[in-house]
Amino acid sequence: MPEVQNLFRAWTGGTTSQPKRRTFGPSVQGQCCALVNENKRPVMSVTHDGSREDPPSRESPSSLIQSSLVPATGELTMRIANHDDRLVLVDEGKYLDVAKVSDGLFSSDVALIYERWDEFRNWSEGRDFADAATIEDGKLGAPNPKPPQVFGIGTNYRGYIEAVGWPTPEVPLVFTKYQSAITGPGAVIELSGPQVDWEVELVVVIGRRGRRIRAEKAWDHVAGLTVGQDISDRDAQMRPKTFPQFSLGKSFPGYAPIGPYLVTPDEFDDPDKIELGCLLNGQEVQRSTTDDLIFTVPQLIEYLSGMLTLLPGDLIFTGTPAGVGSVMDPPRFLTSTDVVTSWITGIGQMTHTFAHGPVMSA
Ligand code: ZN
Repeated sequence: MPEVQNLFRAWTGGTTSQPKRRTFGPSVQGQCCALVNENKRPVMSVTHDGSREDPPSRESPSSLIQSSLVPATGELTMRIANHDDRLVLVDEGKYLDVAKVSDGLFSSDVALIYERWDEFRNWSEGRDFADAATIEDGKLGAPNPKPPQVFGIGTNYRGYIEAVGWPTPEVPLVFTKYQSAITGPGAVIELSGPQVDWEVELVVVIGRRGRRIRAEKAWDHVAGLTVGQDISDRDAQMRPKTFPQFSLGKSFPGYAPIGPYLVTPDEFDDPDKIELGCLLNGQEVQRSTTDDLIFTVPQLIEYLSGMLTLLPGDLIFTGTPAGVGSVMDPPRFLTSTDVVTSWITGIGQMTHTFAHGPVMSA
């Protein structure tokens, strides 16, 4: 049994029984989505009966980095991106440069837009994309590279804690990922050691300041949703052994990639039931839906804002489903030859590669 797992269970006061292990497979029925690359070839598809078809062939890391996602719904009314370090409005693979189109009403700095989110949303309504430029995937960056606060939630999927035999938390397990860990959806991430793990997560971006926000009103405070990876150095995360602190081991440079787009919650039929997953070298390792969250997005917002003030641009990494490498038997950690693809239906996908040498600048 991995040492990390023993430590984690001891720290959380979990049971002493052997954890159950399972092969994580498709768990959702009735979902339908298709991930396709720039050549419209499926990266992965999910049929209405819940079965899944993998791509017929493996793609090289470089082609995966360049791949893009076209949501099957085709309904794209409000999404933004950070394209070439500028805030853009996105529709069907095209973009409008917000600072230029608004004649400077809004800054090109995407990090500043969340302070004026409601005004920006109103301005964005009905924009004409006839002369819009084409998005270049390699230029997409983090939808908010400078979040004021970044919250991470641990052990928040029922399927995950059932798979490893952990107890259900009474309140959210909250840590922070420091701002300097943020990177974009196609970055090469420097590995901090031999026990670096993946965690695909739905990331909430706050659009309205708030304290003591009730769960019923919580979605009104959300600017949008994006894909996140809570990359975690399990060795550093579990130090010191008596009271592990989580935050530093999850905050090495590049360990908080987000992207490729920020999508408003009203884009989803049910924002509390969103499908997400992760592929390691093209093989599915994680897949779930957010209706398996122990603490839902509204409950997390109520809980956090009951203690502190949520600020425009804050990120909440909402937790990861089963299928991370550290609880596999034997454990599986990331190496410089691995490709991690993280996807959320209706938002998009990120593809990351890794390196042992120094690749991230200060
Ligand atoms: Zn996480």
